[in-house]
Amino acid sequence: MTVRAPADTHEVFNQSPPFVDVDLYACDAALQDAVRANGAAGEAEALSAFGRRWGSAAMAEAARLANEYPPRLKTYDARGFRRDTVEFHPAYHGFMAESIGEGLHASTWTAEGAPAPAPAEVARAARFYMVAQVENGHMCPVTMTRAALGALAAEPALRDRLLPKILSRHYDPSFRPWWEKAGMTLGMGMTEKQGGTDVRANTTRATPVGDGYLIDGHKWFMSAPMCDAFLVLAQAPGGLTCLLMPRFRPDGQVNGLRFQRLKDKLGNRSNASSEVEFVNAFAWRVGEEGRGVPTIIRMVQLTRLDCAISSAGIMRMALAQAVHHARHRTVFQRKLVDQPMMRLLLADLALDAEAAVAVVLRLCRSFDGAARDPQEAARARLLTPVVKYWVCKTAPAFVYEAMECLGGNGYVEEGALARLFREAPVNAIWEGSGNVMGLDVLRALAREAEESRAVLAALGAEAAGLPGVGETLAAIERTLAAPEREAHARSAVERLALLAAAAALATGAPSGIAEAFARARLGPSGGRTWGTAPLEGSVVTRLIERVLPA
Ligand SMILES: Cc1cc2nc3c(=O)[nH]c(=O)nc-3n(C[C@H](O)[C@H](O)[C@H](O)COP(=O)(O)OP(=O)(O)OC[C@H]3O[C@@H](n4cnc5c(N)ncnc54)[C@H](O)[C@@H]3O)c2cc1C
Repeated sequence: MTVRAPADTHEVFNQSPPFVDVDLYACDAALQDAVRANGAAGEAEALSAFGRRWGSAAMAEAARLANEYPPRLKTYDARGFRRDTVEFHPAYHGFMAESIGEGLHASTWTAEGAPAPAPAEVARAARFYMVAQVENGHMCPVTMTRAALGALAAEPALRDRLLPKILSRHYDPSFRPWWEKAGMTLGMGMTEKQGGTDVRANTTRATPVGDGYLIDGHKWFMSAPMCDAFLVLAQAPGGLTCLLMPRFRPDGQVNGLRFQRLKDKLGNRSNASSEVEFVNAFAWRVGEEGRGVPTIIRMVQLTRLDCAISSAGIMRMALAQAVHHARHRTVFQRKLVDQPMMRLLLADLALDAEAAVAVVLRLCRSFDGAARDPQEAARARLLTPVVKYWVCKTAPAFVYEAMECLGGNGYVEEGALARLFREAPVNAIWEGSGNVMGLDVLRALAREAEESRAVLAALGAEAAGLPGVGETLAAIERTLAAPEREAHARSAVERLALLAAAAALATGAPSGIAEAFARARLGPSGGRTWGTAPLEGSVVTRLIERVLPA
């Protein structure tokens, strides 16, 4: 119980209590429906225990600390020797231990490094989505570690040596060679000063020596620099190549990674993002020389999925805070949640939060089924950039609107909204920015034309009967057939995302929710800001009640 001293000059009342000590699973009807619809109903009890732990006041306070005391680079020690280490607040290490202990970096892989059986992706995504509601920075190394195994599949012998340490559920932050540690984490370095999207412009060089390569050059962004090894791209004699660069050389010496600075970032502050130079840094090749992009893309597909899951989680927490506040705050003698304009605004926001979690978990089911079902594989290929585009782009404006529901308190750092707001844009920028997602969708449609058409037809069938579905399909076809389709790719991608979301709601949410979403988002009515959707009173009530039980 919190004991508060009385204010001298006035009584404090009509403030909403903190939204803490909640079960993040049990209070989220949309999440529960999506988990059930995508084959993970058996996880409900474990997810509820997870939701209680992550919804606690202690976790919320730790998240505040991890972000208020950001990491610091220690380039040299007191005697001038290079150290190149990063110091984090203990709260950050606590989050790493929690997430790795839960297997969020590993649970989608078997002990042999193959994709784990269904519903591994959906079950992990439900947890990842809850973690994103609390602390985002530490999720960067967690997602990179799990995704790196996608790329390491190109080099099975190397992967098998590292696997026991990667899959270990012990977080070991000590600065030692990976083989001496209880567990290891992995990062990724692709982006250079002259080009991030255009990695073929990389100038970092890889020179073959013995059973490895020596790397010279730099990376302009390399997050989570205290990882134990990094997948990097560099120019080898045979072209752009993927390599794995450990922090310590095989002889136990510290490897040649020289961290120049940590980025001073808008958000994601608990996570360190470095600028780094490589000086004769040792690395192993992963995949063939010249096949760097196709090799690392197997990692990037998974990190893109995680960006979408995480943004859906950010949206969920922002909305839950808004509804919680509106239920407690009285303005003009009436609770905010009973005021007509606020009700429509909250319900309109809830439509997108419902859609985000539904479409994201449906996509995770495609990853679960991809190994044995070509249709699910095609769906995962086409819809990952589509879903990343829409969910990650929706989140920043969505959080801002939810923030406004809390009035001035929403804008102040002590609440969760300010941090969520600063956190939201990065998921759209990294792992391929918005336009790059548009190009990737066009690439999938060109290269896997037949499979992609089948995905479109399946979405149309699943959403059949909902308002605006026929028109949306026709508009997508028109855009894709136009000679200037690259210029209009965003329009096709956005429509595809809305169609996929309507289909996911049609097959997973209770009746009426998909209909309301399709009417508001596929139909001609509704404005460009939230609170303008054509929603009837009974649907408004239902949507708000689904956000949080009264
Ligand atoms: C906090 C943070 C952490 C990061 N951590 C890492 C990391 O750990 N490892 C790593 O490798 N990178 C990391 N990045 C880098 C990130 O992945 C890149 O910033 C991103 O891929 C964009 O590359 P760029 O910055 O070079 O921008 P550019 O490639 O210059 O792109 C600028 C803009 O142009 C658009 N664009 C590009 N090509 C086209 C085109 N053909 N048509 C139309 N528009 C186009 C892009 O969508 C983008 O909006 C991080 C970035 C941030 C912000």
